[in-house]
Amino acid sequence: MNKNSQKYELKNKITPTIKKLIENKNIHEDPICLQFIANQQELNVSIEEIDDPIGDDKYSKVKGIIHRYPDRALIIPKNDCLVTCRFCFRKWKLPEVNTELSEDEIKNAIEYIKQDHKIWEVVLTGGEPLATSNHKLALIINLLNKIDHVGVIRIHSRLPIVAPEKITQELIETLNKEKPVYIVIHCNHSKEITLEVENGCKMFTNSGIPLLSQTALLKGINNKTEVLEQLFRKLIINKVKPYYLHHADLVPGTQHFRTSIREGQELMKALRGTLSGICQPTYVLDIPNGYGKVPIGPSYINSDSNNNIIITDYKGGEHEYPPK
Ligand SMILES: *Cc1c(COP(=O)(O)O)cnc(C)c1O
Repeated sequence: MNKNSQKYELKNKITPTIKKLIENKNIHEDPICLQFIANQQELNVSIEEIDDPIGDDKYSKVKGIIHRYPDRALIIPKNDCLVTCRFCFRKWKLPEVNTELSEDEIKNAIEYIKQDHKIWEVVLTGGEPLATSNHKLALIINLLNKIDHVGVIRIHSRLPIVAPEKITQELIETLNKEKPVYIVIHCNHSKEITLEVENGCKMFTNSGIPLLSQTALLKGINNKTEVLEQLFRKLIINKVKPYYLHHADLVPGTQHFRTSIREGQELMKALRGTLSGICQPTYVLDIPNGYGKVPIGPSYINSDSNNNIIITDYKGGEHEYPPK
């Protein structure tokens, strides 16, 4: 429940790349404008919206670490972002100034990971983790590379979309050391994938860094079968595997962006029939208050009174399958 402890102020933050992309566009219709240009509707906070929608605060263990699942820990090297996406669950908490962890704080955060042998994956997120200064990013990666129980490093980033010119060989060399690094890019519409973005993605994939994507399902921006189809195909063509389609979080003042879960399921159902399996993300909900992410369907499986399994095919036909 929202305690109204927060004062909500509308302030745009965009990059030169996004500025160029939205020039001469209709701010009430263009899918990029709608994502980045503040709107009065954001001041309408509804009763079900929550200040800390996915329960990050509860799982913040030491400064810079969020640890919810036993095998995965987040590290946030930088709290500020290059842009303010109007639907972002950290939107109201994004600092305007540069807020990198200090070297001591980084060492402290990594020490936490080192002490817990169950942590197999470390996820750098933010803010914008790839905008962290090169020497601190190098410090993080090098320290993680020394921890035996860490199997993989994952980075969630919007930089390849909003500032593709910042993808440099130096950045790639900093990341691409011993442990495998996966990058999950945040992308919500095919119009975000410009030639510069495609070239940036190519720099990562050519150096052997696998790319995945996550998309927020957003009313008025991508809640159409054709729009999602085009987006996921374009990602696959650029060697980016669609990973998650996120149901929009209960962020204060984002009601105008949220679809119903039923609508999301209908979209996924439509995609199942028309879109290659490798283009399909998993539709997930981050359960409010920190209970984790789960797939939310649609479900193709039911049972009848004899305990037989009833499977629905992509056209809606039903088929019986034995219980074992
Ligand atoms: C999303 C998230 C993860 C990663 O979840 P996956 O399902 O593995 O992508 C890990 N920790 C926290 C706190 C998260 O919010």
